[in-house]
Amino acid sequence: MSTDINTSIDIQKTTKSNISQIDFSNLSFGNVFTDHMLECDFKDGQWQTVQIRPYGPISLDPSAKVFHYGQAIFEGMKAYKGEDDSIWLFRPEENHARLNKSAVRLAIPEFPKELFFDGLETLLNLDKDWIQKDEGSSLYIRPFVIATEAGVSASPAQEYKLMILCSPAQSYYSGEVRVLFADTYSRSASGGVGFAKCAGNYAGQFYPTKLANDAGYQQVVWTDASTHENLEEAGTMNVFFRIGDTLLTAPTSDRILDGVTRKSVLAIAEDEGINVTVRTISVFEIEEAAKNGNLLEMFGAGTAAVINPITGFCFQGVDYELPKLTNSYAAHFKERITGIQTKKSEDTFGWTYKVRKI
Ligand SMILES: *Cc1c(COP(=O)(O)O)cnc(C)c1O
Repeated sequence: MSTDINTSIDIQKTTKSNISQIDFSNLSFGNVFTDHMLECDFKDGQWQTVQIRPYGPISLDPSAKVFHYGQAIFEGMKAYKGEDDSIWLFRPEENHARLNKSAVRLAIPEFPKELFFDGLETLLNLDKDWIQKDEGSSLYIRPFVIATEAGVSASPAQEYKLMILCSPAQSYYSGEVRVLFADTYSRSASGGVGFAKCAGNYAGQFYPTKLANDAGYQQVVWTDASTHENLEEAGTMNVFFRIGDTLLTAPTSDRILDGVTRKSVLAIAEDEGINVTVRTISVFEIEEAAKNGNLLEMFGAGTAAVINPITGFCFQGVDYELPKLTNSYAAHFKERITGIQTKKSEDTFGWTYKVRKI
């Protein structure tokens, strides 16, 4: 990648920033957006000029294929501001590569890396005041691609729109997270789209998740669709289990999203000599470990909350509580990862990426 940002980006700046109306100490996740957004259209077989303009509604033909056949993918990543006002991204190449992996699976054209970085960094420079420096603050970045071509024939679209939205975020305390191990519904199946960050994976889990919510559980931990015996992921987060001093997580497959946070936890665990095993995890094994007191922790890993401790689970109608630990792996990984992300601790992994200035 060149060190200069492409200047052919078409920029229309806002005439009136909304930033003074925002209470940064009282944000709920994903509801407030920055002054600008990025748009890039795919037509005539190629991605057109990247445009940045004031945040606002877009206009689409009602027959646009995204509305009918769900060709839609997204990413989630974060930017942070260092003490010296520099802006940092965390492993952004991973998000770009995964966007393209999702694109291929949904028959969407891949988005070029240079265009992605040049556009995103220009946007971040424009909206840099929205990234707060205080503890726990970040800017959540939401790139996505939708099929915009008009027409209801069931075939991949010839036209798409990539957009990037930015939303200021605070680290949030999610409260008690109790989960239900899925024994009826499934999130994904072998050969399907579970590994892709596509909109439909979310649409399909809202109903069973709502049933779980009504029964008092905040999330569902999905199991394999054929036997419901092996624990896979939480549908917005990858899941880790701690039995004794060993950390366990399921291997990625075409049914599981390959999370950047999961990867980072694994790398830190290996680096620190924490016993970590990536293998198939049976619900019966976790049930057994919970019964005999060996199951010490469960936690979710994902960009939004980084690490989300799980306080209990339900399996086949029986509730299990997890012990409250003072030295949890969950708290440790959260501190290590956020320390690296915010540049407060040394990044020995080379995960942080400094946003170029324009
Ligand atoms: C985004 C996502 C995750 C977490 O991935 P990160 O890269 O760590 O944010 C986990 N599972 C699913 C289904 C997801 O969509």
